[in-house]
Order: sequence, then C-alpha cells, then structure tokens
Amino acid sequence: KSFEQLCLDPRLIRALTKKGIEKPTPIQQTAIPFILEGKDVVAKAKTGSGKTLAYLLPLLQRLFSDSGSNKKKKPAPSAFVLVPSRELCQQVYTEVSSLIELCRVQLKAVQLTSSMPLSDMRNALAGLPEILVTTPACIPKCFADGVLDPAAISDSLEILVLDEADLLLSYGYEDNLRSVTSIVPRRCQCLLMSATTSSDVEKLKKLILHNPVVLTL
Ligand code: AMP
Repeated sequence: KSFEQLCLDPRLIRALTKKGIEKPTPIQQTAIPFILEGKDVVAKAKTGSGKTLAYLLPLLQRLFSDSGSNKKKKPAPSAFVLVPSRELCQQVYTEVSSLIELCRVQLKAVQLTSSMPLSDMRNALAGLPEILVTTPACIPKCFADGVLDPAAISDSLEILVLDEADLLLSYGYEDNLRSVTSIVPRRCQCLLMSATTSSDVEKLKKLILHNPVVLTL
C-alpha cells in the first residue's frame, strides 16, 4: 500500500516526498489506518521499523482539522508524546517539527526535559503548543511548579502516545506516568509503542487503553 492508499493528508504525503520517504513500512501500513479511525493502538515496534512516523503522521492529521488561523488556541496541549530519554525526546521533536514546517500548518510542538530550567519550560508552553514531547519525569515537576495545569490538560488532551513503553517503565518512571494517566480524559486516544511486551506493559495497557487494537509485526 502507498501513503495515498492509507488516506493520509496530501500535505503530509508531500512532506514525506520532500524527505525522500515514498513507501510506508509494515508498521506504518498497519497502524496508520487504525489510528486515523481513532482507535487505541498497541504496537510492538522496534526502533528502525518506522514507528515514530507510524504515530506522528496520523497524530498530525488529526490535529490539522483543529488548526488554522481563525481557530482559538487551547490553553493546554492536545497531544502528549511521552518518551523514556532526552535523546529520543530530541529525535521525536525534530521529526515532528520538520513535518509541521514542511506541511505549512499552524501547529506548534515543543519538547520539555527535566534538565531544562523552569523558566525555559514556562516560555516553551507560553506559545500554546498543540504538541508536547516530553519525558514522564517532567510532568509532575510541571504540575508542582504550576507550569502545566492538570485540569486544562484534562480538557484539552486528545492524543497520548507512550513511545518505547517498556523503557518508560523500566526507567522507574512508573509513579511519574501515573500522574499523567490519572488525568487522561476518557475521550483521549491512546497509542502505546513498545519493543517488548512485559507484564508491566500489559498493566499500563489495561490502565489507560480502551479496547485497543493490538499489532505485532
Ligand atoms: P524509527 O523506527 O521511527 O526510529 O525510524 C527509523 C528511521 O527510518 C528514521 O530515520 C525515519 O526517518 C526512517 N523512516 C521512517 N519511515 C520510513 C519509510 N516509510 N521509508 C523510509 N524511511 C523511513
């Protein structure tokens, strides 16, 4: 199948072409249609499989319809992407920002990591980004310091991605994750990417996903 056949927005397809990406990988072929349908998805996907674009493309497409110059910005992000490390945070942020730029849509992504000074976090969020890429440790810190408002997030959150979920748990982030999962509204679409399926990942899946489509490739 081609990206066109996956019903991706032409702007995204043009952006991919500019990046030299022409054909979807197996995980992208399988996951993108379910994610566009609004389903919760668990995907067993390794680094190198194209898992990042498998969730970023439909995530962006979903936010396209909310964006535009005449739309009022929400007070908190619509999409959270949680990753286990600063390196991955940077990588995902770079990828999503370049797609936004190539698509010329009015969306904004920011990254927050725990090493950032609070003033930088505040500045980053002051631009009212739709997409927040961050590590779980950042979230309770932001709540405690009033940089992020849990009630505003409950109102605004539409998509939550847990990338490398097995590592998210193995880094001892569990308590931090709970401060996020406890405020995820029922309507929020949840996507969980994991290289392995441990009992911890299963627990996380039960905790926040609703009737997910499980993909093992
Ligand atoms: P990931 O598995 O998300 O870490 O992606 C691994 C690498 O594959 C990244 O450098 C992507 O830019 C690249 N990539 C993702 N999807 C495709 C695709 N459909 N065709 C070619 N390269 C891709």
